[in-house]
Amino acid sequence: MTHTPGPWQACKNGIVEGKSALVADVFAVEARSYDDETEGSEARANAALIAASPDLLEALEILTGLHDIDHEEIAACSCDTCNAHKIAFAAIAKARKTNA
Ligand SMILES: [Zn+2]
Repeated sequence: MTHTPGPWQACKNGIVEGKSALVADVFAVEARSYDDETEGSEARANAALIAASPDLLEALEILTGLHDIDHEEIAACSCDTCNAHKIAFAAIAKARKTNA
C-alpha cells in the first residue's frame, strides 16, 4: 500500500486533501493538542508541511537516485554531503514505513 496520490493541498479549514481522499485534519488535532496562544498558526504550518510531503519524498528519491552511492562509504564518513545522504535515506525509510 502506498500513500494517497499527490498533489496534496492544505485547505483553510485545516483539512489536507489528496487527489482522491482526505489526508489529515490538523484543526482536529490542534483542538486536542495546543493552547490558545498558537491561534491555529502551528496547525496551519503542520498542514502545509503535510501537504508538501509527497513532493518532498519524490524530490529526495530523485536526488538520491541521481548518482551511484556507496552506502558503506557514506556510513563511515561524517562530511556534510554524507550526513545529508544519511538524513535523506532515513527520511525516505520513515515515509515508506507502513507498519508503524
Ligand atoms: Zn563524505
